[in-house]
Amino acid sequence: MTQTYRITLLPGDGIGPEIMRVAVEALEAIARQFDLRFSFNEALVGGAAIDATGEPLPADTLEQCCQSDAVLLAAIGGYKWDNLPRAQRPETGLLGLRAGLGLFANLRPATIVPQLIDASTLKREVVEGVDIMVVRELTGGIYFGQPKGIFQTETGAQRGVNTMAYTTAEIDRIAKVGFETARQRGHRLCSVDKANVLDVSQLWRDRLTQMASQYPDVELSHLYVDNAAMQLVRAPKQFDTLVTGNLFGDILSDAAAMLTGSIGMLPSASLGVAGTPGLFEPVHGSAPDIAGQDKANPLAQVLSAAMLLRYGLNQPQAATKLEMAVTQVLEQGYRTGDIMSAGLKSVGCRAMGEALLAALDA
Ligand code: NAD
Repeated sequence: MTQTYRITLLPGDGIGPEIMRVAVEALEAIARQFDLRFSFNEALVGGAAIDATGEPLPADTLEQCCQSDAVLLAAIGGYKWDNLPRAQRPETGLLGLRAGLGLFANLRPATIVPQLIDASTLKREVVEGVDIMVVRELTGGIYFGQPKGIFQTETGAQRGVNTMAYTTAEIDRIAKVGFETARQRGHRLCSVDKANVLDVSQLWRDRLTQMASQYPDVELSHLYVDNAAMQLVRAPKQFDTLVTGNLFGDILSDAAAMLTGSIGMLPSASLGVAGTPGLFEPVHGSAPDIAGQDKANPLAQVLSAAMLLRYGLNQPQAATKLEMAVTQVLEQGYRTGDIMSAGLKSVGCRAMGEALLAALDA
């Protein structure tokens, strides 16, 4: 019997509902072709949830997400909720969702789409063929380590403190995601740390090195974070999969993403322990400046749905099919405003969705 996958949809705010519609239609087409069954249920998060219930992450939404096989989020936030106290803001809903689902690994691909290569600010020969996955630890490290805060010293001065700390268990579980991800890609894993200065990084490096013996098919290398930043813009093609801690990953994943030059094309995945639902969402925000105008590029949302298939439901062929359909619409010259160049076919969000469905059916 065909398994039914339960997918919670969180359209959120701004362009969220428009781009979500395109992704869901694409998933429905994929289901027909691959004999999969999806049961979609929609829930409120962010500003939409604040308006309806007074809080950015209603308990019912988190419950629905926990009960599903995967969660597809669009984006949250907007001018309307910008002046609320922090605890009531849309972003707080997103943080609560990540914590509630125990998402400790963030996967951010930076893949150069040949048709959009000129959107990159780097030279064509440097970025052509770039296909990098940054695996970032999401719930530990300096953003969460204790002690943290601004303290009063004995002399009356103030002292700001954050602590970069990782336990072996925290390192091992993200290392495992790194190795497993590299195994599904180019079999090369580069671990990024600052082991020449930081003890926490030395422990990180030791654990990664130890774990490598369990993955003889993956080639492990190590880089200091300063060198990794340089190498990313100097010669990005050398990288396949990068794995790193929270702070370094925050910075490097944005730098890697910008090699591609187009924010409307970037998906992401956040994963917890095996068997729990992952969260899949575009990197961009809710783009309130173009919301409701049929101008949004839905392709990052569609590529997030492809990541959901690959990393959330272990359906790599269905994921590849969806990714190929995205490539095809770009090859056919369809462009939303954010990626438009002269001589190509300017379309809105809906028409891009229709072109995608046609490519999926072809
Ligand atoms: P943004 O990513 O929403 O928009 C930045 C620029 O990129 C805008 O000009 C926008 O029109 C454009 N853009 C973004 N996505 C696009 C798409 N799919 N197609 C075409 N153009 C696109 O970032 P921002 O303006 O800094 O933030 C807007 C709101 O989104 C804020 O409330 C912010 O807090 C929120 N935000 C949410 C998330 C999230 O949900 N994960 C992430 C970032 C920002």
